[in-house]
Amino acid sequence: MNQDPSIFLGKANILVVDDTPANITLLTQILSNQGYKVRVAPSGKLALKSVQFVVPDLILLDVKMPDLNGYQVCRQLKAQPSTRDIPVIFMSALDDALDKVTAFTLGGVDYITKPFESIEVIARIENQLRLHEFQLQLQAQNAQLQLLLATAQAISETADAEEALLAILSTVCQTIGWDFGEAWMPNSEATHLEYCCAWRTDLPNLLEFQHQSESLHFAYAQGFPGWVWASQQIEWIADLAEQPCLMNIRSLAAEQASLKSVLGVPIVLDGQVLAVLVFFHHQELAPDERSLQLFKAIATQLGSMIQRKKAEDALRQANWELERLANLDGLTQLANRRRFDVYFRQQWQSHCCDRQPLSIILFDVDYFKPYNDFYGHQAGDECLQQLSIAARQAINQPADLVARYGGEEFVAVLPNTPVTQALEIAEQLRQAVQQLRIPHRTSQVNEFVTVSIGVASSVPLDTDLPDTLIAAADRALYQAKEQGRDRLVLAPQSDRVSRSPSLHSQNS
Ligand SMILES: [Mg+2]
Repeated sequence: MNQDPSIFLGKANILVVDDTPANITLLTQILSNQGYKVRVAPSGKLALKSVQFVVPDLILLDVKMPDLNGYQVCRQLKAQPSTRDIPVIFMSALDDALDKVTAFTLGGVDYITKPFESIEVIARIENQLRLHEFQLQLQAQNAQLQLLLATAQAISETADAEEALLAILSTVCQTIGWDFGEAWMPNSEATHLEYCCAWRTDLPNLLEFQHQSESLHFAYAQGFPGWVWASQQIEWIADLAEQPCLMNIRSLAAEQASLKSVLGVPIVLDGQVLAVLVFFHHQELAPDERSLQLFKAIATQLGSMIQRKKAEDALRQANWELERLANLDGLTQLANRRRFDVYFRQQWQSHCCDRQPLSIILFDVDYFKPYNDFYGHQAGDECLQQLSIAARQAINQPADLVARYGGEEFVAVLPNTPVTQALEIAEQLRQAVQQLRIPHRTSQVNEFVTVSIGVASSVPLDTDLPDTLIAAADRALYQAKEQGRDRLVLAPQSDRVSRSPSLHSQNS
């Protein structure tokens, strides 16, 4: 962006439009001496033709000419998008009445009066060229900011780094007008680049091109993405046909999709390539300074954005893991009491709303203290672990939650489960524990470990407290113990449909 203006001014291409040959000769001489490239047009019509072929950086336009006068020429220049932005300086003889208001209204940027003072001519031209260059720089910077803002916005709305890359590809392609954008990321060992995602317009054969890319990966310096990875520089090939080996195995697919230009942008942070973005265009596009600056700016900004996205991902993952651990019972790997309390209350609330039955199964190990005393605490822990696995197998609906309630006591929440089904599940659980056949020589009910179970079920009401269901299950469990253990008891539902106060399983 910070070009030396003298270099720019020296290269500027100026079109001189005047019907007087002497004026043309003089101006050509003055301008050429300053290093400008000069083209001439002896009439308005020829000037309009000339600008269709080469767009000049500035036009010196005589006002008084036969057929089309300067004002008419200027009006036509301003009507065409391709010539609209060329600065026009009007030229008028001192004795001609120059209509300055018309000149500026039509979009002229300045005027010069004849006879020419060469110093004045040069000063006015340089001034306008400089202004125009600043204007172009501002436009380019504005475009950069717009694009960065759009990509930053798109990235902020994404969930992870891959989604962020896709948002970048789509924003860049649509803003700059490229047809296909793809992102490649180094694998975790950084041995090769893996395909990440792509964005494409609906040009024919781009879908096939994308499908082929999805299965590819590139080693360091291999293929075009690998080359960009290695160089850590923006690489731009205007005509792919001239460097087929760069496209490697994709050259045929690129040809079939009529892709002509390719642009590779490495996203680098602290010397590490985080991703390689590759853009394709269906036309031959030569690299230009402004586009390169734009992509450089993108590459610089995106590095930190993607890194931040990755860090956010990792943090979210770590938090999720922490949350999981905070809700887990270390010994049994079941949910812990804390998790049960939260989950049960959530379910209670939602069942109050949709009037569905919610069931609770509370169970504990029969004669567990004598078991621990006889076999030792390590055996006691192993017993609880085996029992937890059996419980999880028996109580296995996706919404069910089995938790360690404390010591040798366990609880299960069964959402949307009517009482009959809850009883069936509780009985399966009782049998599953028995079938573990864990020897229990100090049990007074069985030679193997058994459990006693309390079941409670209700359709929660807003007026009920969630603890009433737990208390009911607890009382049922107490009854199961009282009635001889290794059995299940259903809590009575005094204010609901009356049920048998207790249900005994058959003792084995
Ligand atoms: Mg004239």
